[in-house]
Amino acid sequence: MEELKKLLTQNKKVAVLTGAGISHESGIPTFRGAGGYWKQYKAEELATPEAFQRDPKLVWEWYDYRRGVCAKAKPNPAHEVVFKMESYFPEFLVITQNVDGLHRRAGNKKIFEIHGNIFTARCTSCSNRISLGDEPLKEIPLKCNVCGSLARPHIVWFGESYDGDILDQCYSFLATTELIFVIGTSGQVSVPVNMAKYAATKGAYCIEVNPEETSVTDFTDTFLQGKAGEVLPQLWEGISN
Ligand SMILES: [Zn+2]
Repeated sequence: MEELKKLLTQNKKVAVLTGAGISHESGIPTFRGAGGYWKQYKAEELATPEAFQRDPKLVWEWYDYRRGVCAKAKPNPAHEVVFKMESYFPEFLVITQNVDGLHRRAGNKKIFEIHGNIFTARCTSCSNRISLGDEPLKEIPLKCNVCGSLARPHIVWFGESYDGDILDQCYSFLATTELIFVIGTSGQVSVPVNMAKYAATKGAYCIEVNPEETSVTDFTDTFLQGKAGEVLPQLWEGISN
């Protein structure tokens, strides 16, 4: 741990990649895999463009429910450390798979939400974005407040492409980052794994924080096993307040 602390004080450009694990510690279920059911549906059956085309009302009901869960959740000690990192390191970026907005609520501003944000909707025909609050929607499915067309959650669904412009900006940061943290990722979603691998091949020192080994562990320099909410505050202790 002391060696790692030293490394943190010696580097200036740092990226943090986060996944569902860090949100799970704030009580947000992953909605994937075993136990990830809502009513009788699995996430894989609802988070697709086909499901939305078939039944936009059902998909919106699910997102309305999930947004309510996210609105009640609070950032945990791991989010707080990631927030402190942003003001400590001269160059810093959070890249998150999470759509729950918890990093923003913890105070982070330098962030790319590569899977979208559950508190945002967008129109299916014009370019309008709609900011959704913490309260349930009054009308489901949601309509665009500019043109009246159907609006959809601003989320990257299964089978959809990532925003190329955001990916480019992530990769350009990762090309020269000195340190990369990989926190709470399942290691199954290939884009974040590829991002971590890319940073590592470009020379970044890679620190993984996860309760279990993942496909990232194979190429990581240091694997810190445990909950992010416990491991990160220990690592950050004595570095800054
Ligand atoms: Zn519109």
